[in-house]
Amino acid sequence: MADNPYIKKLVREDISALSAYHVPDAGKLVKLDAMENPYQLPDELKQQWLEKLGNADLNRYPDPSAKRLKQQLRKVMKVPPNAELLLGNGSDEIIQMIIMALAKDGAVVMAPEPGFVMYKMISLFCKVDYVGVPLADDFSLDMTAMREAISQHQPAVIFLAWPNNPTGNLFAEADILDVIANAPGLVVIDEAYTSFAEVSFINRVNEFDNVVVMRTVSKSGLAGLRLGYLVGSPSWCNEFNKVRLPYNINILTQVSAEFALQHNDVLDEQAASIRQARTALLDTLNAMPGVEAYPSAANFILFKVSDADAVFNSLKQQGVLIKNMHPTGGVLENCLRVTVSTPQENQAFLDALKASL
Ligand SMILES: *Cc1c(COP(=O)(O)O)cnc(C)c1O
Repeated sequence: MADNPYIKKLVREDISALSAYHVPDAGKLVKLDAMENPYQLPDELKQQWLEKLGNADLNRYPDPSAKRLKQQLRKVMKVPPNAELLLGNGSDEIIQMIIMALAKDGAVVMAPEPGFVMYKMISLFCKVDYVGVPLADDFSLDMTAMREAISQHQPAVIFLAWPNNPTGNLFAEADILDVIANAPGLVVIDEAYTSFAEVSFINRVNEFDNVVVMRTVSKSGLAGLRLGYLVGSPSWCNEFNKVRLPYNINILTQVSAEFALQHNDVLDEQAASIRQARTALLDTLNAMPGVEAYPSAANFILFKVSDADAVFNSLKQQGVLIKNMHPTGGVLENCLRVTVSTPQENQAFLDALKASL
């Protein structure tokens, strides 16, 4: 029904003009494009996990407030006692809840760019204006540009990914504090990569009326569960909770996440291996002629070559899938992003890269 007349008549023009978020099929490729943790739970834990799943009541709706899971997150992630938690089906859904709740007429969403694309996409879905503020050439926050954009657009919410995706760097804490002080609205510190950065604003959410911290379990080994969480004052969480769909965290995710968090030491050790591998990978990349790799506090590395399209395609032909950032343009011209993985997969990537240059 390519020419179904209802489509043109009914679908919003701005939606019609989009193409759906494209996730390449990795097939048998070594998958280093999506910041996934390459490690799984050890076999004996997998067995225990399956038993828990076997006891889940699939015929019942899940606990709408996911009480036990929240308790577990609170304990393991050391959430400050006077802060509240809000769970999302991935932090993508939390971004959506925040923007929906703040989508007054004329409201503006702001984020530094290049940044995480969902801030912009979800703004569009919610018909909220989005303003991207270019980063400085060294990927730090351009504070002159930020202050100007804030004063001009008076954003209802500013998203700061800390560390930033796709650049991998941590913005200076002083700059974040400056943004918070200048912002007329909410500042969301997006800590998707906190296990690899080992820094956090989580203990500071009570210092400011306009700061919340957002996290996800995706990058630290549980991407398949789709679980994100917001840490903030009860007053913010109460409002965002009103736009949350009642059973957004399904029972399999609740049971699995509770189990995984009981064994968080395993995930922590995996993160430590990845941090170690990151250092080695960065050094090796920077020793390669024709490659400039940027320091990273996340589980990926952004690097520049002379012809990113050619390198990307050559790697793919050699069985390694990374992310080509070149189409984004600007400071990402000829840049590629690779997920830090196991020593074996990192080596496979390096071998393929060497052959491609
Ligand atoms: C991956 C990522 C997310 C999304 O995480 P999900 O919980 O998987 O939806 C959010 N923010 C940043 C900066 C990310 O890189």
